[in-house]
Amino acid sequence: MALSFISPLLPHHDHNRCREKALQTADRICDNRGVRLTPMRRQVLELIWESHKAIKAYDLLERITPKAGTTKPVTVYRALNFLMEQGLIHKVESLNAFIGCSFSDHQHQQLLLTCSNCQEVEERPAEAVMEAIDRELEQASFTIYYKAIEIHGLCTHCAKIDATANHIIE
Ligand SMILES: [Zn+2]
Ligand SMILES: [Zn+2]
Ligand SMILES: [Zn+2]
Repeated sequence: MALSFISPLLPHHDHNRCREKALQTADRICDNRGVRLTPMRRQVLELIWESHKAIKAYDLLERITPKAGTTKPVTVYRALNFLMEQGLIHKVESLNAFIGCSFSDHQHQQLLLTCSNCQEVEERPAEAVMEAIDRELEQASFTIYYKAIEIHGLCTHCAKIDATANHIIE
């Protein structure tokens, strides 16, 4: 059976590649649009891409290394807004946290699979799901601002650990 979508969250995947690809895409997108990926915006994006775990704004703020003095929260919020506007990151509303977008250059609606155990979020384009929702919304004459579906559960990795733990208890 052919998989139409390969999960980037396989255990021990080469995350350096994810991060480098995301930063290169960000540079290219900003260049094309004539907007500036300032050092602060870039640093925030890099911190978000340190893993696939959703990260909260105040955790980002703590990890920013300021050139001089301390970084004001508003600076980080502005950087986050810019990155969201450019589709380089997503806000996971149910966690009030952020993840890097794995498909910045070609899609802007997403299915977010959020692991309740490790907080890793897998983004999937889920085209068939999105098309079905579009049809539904058309029937409802509902105007869409943006579309993101968040599903909570256990990722493959945590589900395996969970299964093993249950097995030991038995
Ligand atoms: Zn990765
Ligand atoms: Zn995305
Ligand atoms: Zn997990």
